[in-house]
Amino acid sequence: MRPAQTTYQRPTSVAEALQILAAHEGAKLLAGGHSLIPAMNQRLATPELLVDIGRLDELKGISVSGNTLVIGAATPHAQVTASPNVRAHARALAQACGMLADPQVRNWGTIGGNIAHADPASDPPTVVLAAGGKLRLQSATGQRVVDANDFFLDLFTTALQPGEILRSIELPIVVDRRSAYVKMPHPASRYAVVGVAVFLDVANGYCSHASVAIGGAVPKATRSPGAERALQGSHLDDAALAAAAAAISAEVSGMAMSDLYASAEYRTAMAGVILQQAVRAALA
Ligand SMILES: Cc1cc2nc3c(=O)[nH]c(=O)nc-3n(C[C@H](O)[C@H](O)[C@H](O)COP(=O)(O)OP(=O)(O)OC[C@H]3O[C@@H](n4cnc5c(N)ncnc54)[C@H](O)[C@@H]3O)c2cc1C
Repeated sequence: MRPAQTTYQRPTSVAEALQILAAHEGAKLLAGGHSLIPAMNQRLATPELLVDIGRLDELKGISVSGNTLVIGAATPHAQVTASPNVRAHARALAQACGMLADPQVRNWGTIGGNIAHADPASDPPTVVLAAGGKLRLQSATGQRVVDANDFFLDLFTTALQPGEILRSIELPIVVDRRSAYVKMPHPASRYAVVGVAVFLDVANGYCSHASVAIGGAVPKATRSPGAERALQGSHLDDAALAAAAAAISAEVSGMAMSDLYASAEYRTAMAGVILQQAVRAALA
């Protein structure tokens, strides 16, 4: 199938992109195009106007500002995974962006496009949620910062409002915090069938903080309070991991998705298995 007819503009600044968005109700942002173009080819999306922000330098790059890791929304996955700052402060995100799809998608697809699209099988949303990340959004009237807990609303649905651009992804930097992302990938696309991200504060084997999120299995990236409670205050021994695994599977059960590749029951069971792998990977 071919996409419906559309028009195209390439603004030279975020301010200009915002003006175009404000003036055209049927406009849609185009970043790497690796989710939007396939959707247009299937006529699941029929934007009247494409506003190409993929080459705007002000939306690219990775920096540290105080105790925050700031990642520009139009930064390609390959640059996120190669960044020494991301590897040092949010290793799980480097892992997630490094294992998604294939080199072409990682070189063209952007972390912001991925997060704005909110595909339930995407990897970065799960990590950003577990990391306690925030999303900086900009419209023609100003900026606002939304906690990741409040950003991912449902399948392909976020808190982004019409006329808003995701500017950056901001993750807290916590000294000595360990993290890992482990997924069971679909063998063809590499999208997550089940993906789990963990962020742990561990000293002398004792875990004083744990945050856990799951994606792929459920309609949106979702925290697991039960797994967090089981890990936090433990020595991350086999009993704590088993309790966390049981908790995450219990929470996923009832909301797990089913498709031709994996049933809801299978995803529910795998949630606990992948969680234990993620904790062990964070400690390794
Ligand atoms: C074969 C294949 C395999 C893939 N496998 C995986 C995988 O294993 N894991 C995974 O996580 N992803 C996977 N992806 C998706 C890939 O990561 C996409 O690059 C990503 O989801 C979208 O990023 P993009 O820059 O291409 O966005 P686009 O396709 O350009 O845009 C996607 C959506 O986000 C909006 N948007 C883009 N940028 C912004 C912004 N800054 N602010 C607000 N809205 C914005 C667009 O309007 C559009 O609605 C795969 C894609 C393909 C084609």
